[in-house]
Amino acid sequence: MNAKAKVLEIIEGNRDEAVSYLSGLLKHPSVMGSEESAQRHYAELLKLLDMEIDIWEPKAEDMKINPDFMPARDDYTGSPDVVGVLRGTGGGRSILLNGHVDVVPAGGNDWTDDPWSGKIEDGKVYGRGANDMKGALIAYLMAMKAIKEAGIDLKGDVLIGSVIGEETGGAGTLSLINRGYRADGAIISEPSDLRVCPVSMGVIWFRVRVRGLMAHAATSYLGVNAISKAAMLIQEIDAYEDRMIQEKKHPLYSHHPSPFSINIGIIKGGVFPTSVPDEVILEARMSFSPDDDIAQVKKELEEAIHKAAMKDEWLRDHLPEIEWYGFCLNSGSVPMDHPLLGAILYNFKLVKEREAEIIGTPWGTDAGALIRYGNIPTIVFGPGPGGMAHKADEYIDVDMLQDTTKVIAATILDWCGHEEV
Ligand SMILES: [Zn+2]
Repeated sequence: MNAKAKVLEIIEGNRDEAVSYLSGLLKHPSVMGSEESAQRHYAELLKLLDMEIDIWEPKAEDMKINPDFMPARDDYTGSPDVVGVLRGTGGGRSILLNGHVDVVPAGGNDWTDDPWSGKIEDGKVYGRGANDMKGALIAYLMAMKAIKEAGIDLKGDVLIGSVIGEETGGAGTLSLINRGYRADGAIISEPSDLRVCPVSMGVIWFRVRVRGLMAHAATSYLGVNAISKAAMLIQEIDAYEDRMIQEKKHPLYSHHPSPFSINIGIIKGGVFPTSVPDEVILEARMSFSPDDDIAQVKKELEEAIHKAAMKDEWLRDHLPEIEWYGFCLNSGSVPMDHPLLGAILYNFKLVKEREAEIIGTPWGTDAGALIRYGNIPTIVFGPGPGGMAHKADEYIDVDMLQDTTKVIAATILDWCGHEEV
């Protein structure tokens, strides 16, 4: 039996072990600021691979390598990054397997069970982060464990990075890059539903402050209603979004009706029904094409809002203030002829006996940072089901987890090279 067949067979045999490792990791509620216990737990698992382990807390100054980074916090106490390194025998290409351990809050009352139970049922593992993306961290672990159990020595180095802060803009990956970790290629197994994503879109948040003039409602002619002005502006932003959707096309997003869009997610304004409101704050998320430069994207939106304001007598003299804040994951892409993409596609076909679907990611990822600031070609490929991230009763499909593990393990063998067994 050749090395790859042997590794794939071992992965199949280790299925229950993978499920139980994932269930254990899901019991650590690694929301922002509380990632440490999950990270220590994962670092212990990496020791099974004889990896050198590095655990550190990111520093605010690490983020300076990304000029567009907008911090959700300045202090990363209690939120360490973890990197495991397995040195190769030499002469092969290195790979970084990168995944975020932070999860969004469990939220709501819609969960059938405790979101931190790690419940296993009917080929699914449940829990906040099962899909996005602790399943991936277990796929990395099990891929390397199978290679080790097969007695294979890789030529290139393998790095596994479990990072914090992805859900809030990517602090952990920036810190990993700033700490000097590099590889010839990287995989991020965000839950792409087994689709292979050589491009990641960019995502950025912004806030618009619309001013009015306060007055008694009975004499509203003495005031200016900021809510009415904001309503007008929202229509203009929606119209701008419609134009964006029409004009901004990308071949790897042709499957998606509106990949590059604006979502106004929060509106705040007014203090009392009998008062004319003097201020409205809109907060929104904008996604943009990997082909577009972030500075240009910002400028275009600012100009559109400015132009809309110029149509109104009051807003012309009281221009809405635009602030970019809180969250920015830059876009990134890897050329379609890149050998890492070729290796993933080849091994996908080997494992699944069909061609992989190639698309752009439907969300922002850490790939943009690895590509732009680490100069590491990075491809997103991971389990599913898709559309399950951030939901109540989040789960991962164990068959898809296993497929991800197999494709990654087979890709590592080809990419890093190995000694004959
Ligand atoms: Zn994610």
